[in-house]
Amino acid sequence: MKSLKQNSTTATGFQEVYPYQFFLELPVPRYQVRSSPSSWGDDYKTCLGKFQSPIDIREKDVTTVSFTQLEFSNVNNSHTAYMTNNGHTVMIQSFDPNAPLISGGPINDTYVFQQLHFHWGQNDNLGSEDLINNHSFSMELHAVFWKKDYGSSEAALKHDDGLTVLGYLYQATDKSNPVFDSITWQIPDITGVGSNITINDTSVLSKLIAPDLASAQNYFTYRGSLTTPPCLEIVQWIDFVQPQYISHEQLAAFRIIQSTDGTNLTHNFRPVQPLDGRIVYRNNVTTESTSASSTVMSGTVSTTTVSKQTTSSTAKATKESEATTITVPEQSNSENSMDTFVVMLGIIFLLPHQ
Ligand SMILES: [Zn+2]
Repeated sequence: MKSLKQNSTTATGFQEVYPYQFFLELPVPRYQVRSSPSSWGDDYKTCLGKFQSPIDIREKDVTTVSFTQLEFSNVNNSHTAYMTNNGHTVMIQSFDPNAPLISGGPINDTYVFQQLHFHWGQNDNLGSEDLINNHSFSMELHAVFWKKDYGSSEAALKHDDGLTVLGYLYQATDKSNPVFDSITWQIPDITGVGSNITINDTSVLSKLIAPDLASAQNYFTYRGSLTTPPCLEIVQWIDFVQPQYISHEQLAAFRIIQSTDGTNLTHNFRPVQPLDGRIVYRNNVTTESTSASSTVMSGTVSTTTVSKQTTSSTAKATKESEATTITVPEQSNSENSMDTFVVMLGIIFLLPHQ
């Protein structure tokens, strides 16, 4: 197992708040940033960028597109997984060579699993990073994948299509979720910052990452950033629509770990950021569709289908790397009238990245 370094609070009171650097062991200086998300921009201008995460996903404003199937490989193998308190979250990794892979959907290449971690709130009424219709869920799991073509997770960070992060939402209920049994049972062993243990369930990774087949194709997707400094805008986000559940007691277990400042880590989510003209897409899981060509991800143009719009819009892709305008006929009618409206998007030509 790789050695895990201890985070620390500096003499200036700034904290090292970069779990990605910590776990990816980036060949860059350790970041020191202010602990409040509202101050991150003072130290990292990228945190003030136009493609920041998280966002509030408003269903009436999303653009529905039929992507190819999102594929998972190596997910159901058994994996030796390690759980760590890095002072900012509970993080789970595996160093098995047969790491889980994803491909398809809005991504045109294969991405390799790096780590997963959680975001939660001070109470069960909030905690997720992305919101849906301004609703905050009790917890959000992020499974981070890096683009295999770049050779390593470190190299992937230098490219604006370097990462894909799968987001899974959880709502607190009275019912215990057996998937979390091994995690919450062992969290008391990692209350100290930098402590880590081997999870005594080799299927925990597959249980957490692999949604059932129907839910796996039901997602929102958009271009965004890391939600911690330096807020690199290199992430294709894929947020599964269907929330899962976790009990109040299981969720409470996460709040007992210590943060880098020595207090309990009661919450660790970043507030939502401006959408700034970005399009949020939703994968069409119905059969009502017609063929067209489109893509929202960098790289080659992929053939997808486009179906009913859930809202009126002249959708404009503003990111320069997408360099394309998606024009959808203006619709002034209600969402219901859109059920019969089928629109074909033109072929989108993308400029190559980097
Ligand atoms: Zn995260």
